[in-house]
Amino acid sequence: MNSTDSIFVAGHRGLVGAALVRALQAAGYSNLLTATRQETDLTNQEAVERFFASRKPSYVFLAAARVGGIMANNTRPADFLTENLQIQTNVIDAAYRHGVKKLLFLGSSCIYPKLAPQPIQEQDLLTGSLEPTNQWYAIAKIAGLKMCQAYRRQHGFDAISLMPTNLYGPGDNFDLQASHVLPALIRKFHEARLAGAQEVVVWGTGSPKREFLHVDDLASACLFLMRNYDGEEPMNVGSGEEIEIGALAEMVRQVVGCQAPIRFDTSVPDGTPRKLLDCSKLRALGWTPGIGLTQGLRQTYAWYQDLLALNDYLPRTA
Ligand code: GDP
Repeated sequence: MNSTDSIFVAGHRGLVGAALVRALQAAGYSNLLTATRQETDLTNQEAVERFFASRKPSYVFLAAARVGGIMANNTRPADFLTENLQIQTNVIDAAYRHGVKKLLFLGSSCIYPKLAPQPIQEQDLLTGSLEPTNQWYAIAKIAGLKMCQAYRRQHGFDAISLMPTNLYGPGDNFDLQASHVLPALIRKFHEARLAGAQEVVVWGTGSPKREFLHVDDLASACLFLMRNYDGEEPMNVGSGEEIEIGALAEMVRQVVGCQAPIRFDTSVPDGTPRKLLDCSKLRALGWTPGIGLTQGLRQTYAWYQDLLALNDYLPRTA
């Protein structure tokens, strides 16, 4: 990938896509292609075809997807399955047919069986049943990585797949019904501090464990693998920093400076008990993450406060 190659970042307004744009710009890549949903709806095959025919990217980072936390996944199964299948099928197929040199597909650690041995290795894929709350998203992502493998085998198309662990960072979704746990906790504790609330509700039992990776570390791994990996097997990308949800909530409470005690709402599902990725394959290639959870959490909270201040400052249009 040369600094003048045309690089399409699909999903550049999302958490991952925005981090990819930052990382590519910082690394000196000047010919970045992006498209908003209004310009090119990636669920629409004709629109995707027109985009590739006219813009002719040489490299593609496929970060566009319908994503969300446990509540969104569990309540909108049709959207998660259909939109993700549409986006990835349209983009991977068009990329191959329009002569893209290399494509990087982003999956998720939820593709692995609910009760996979920990830490989870790439070879554990399809060895057991999926976690029911996010199986729709997982099935779509498994189809995406299989599509990359199939196009490599049948057509020699250089498509690689990454399976990141739970991500967080600037640009995350803070909508409490749709978000993942970390932005949800930041918002809940922040609002509880301002309101002097008596308690903060954390979903589930607090005992599931999750591994968190800062999105800028993921973007760095994406660039590294685009340059250094051309294998058929998906590549796990994690931080090794695993924490119980209860302990995470306590950590966020302290970073935000909130006094309110935590109450666990056990009527909400826990999801998978644990999903720690084994990243020895990636480490062996020479990549390591750089942003610890405490540092990343402080930085993300600062970003969230800046966002709120900006929203207060901007004139309201509605
Ligand atoms: P998951 O990793 O796919 O299960 O996605 P999430 O990030 O949405 O949830 C991770 C864990 O955090 C689950 O056990 C949730 O029940 C728990 N959790 C606790 N409080 C919250 C919250 O306010 N929002 C979300 N999304 N999850 C929460």
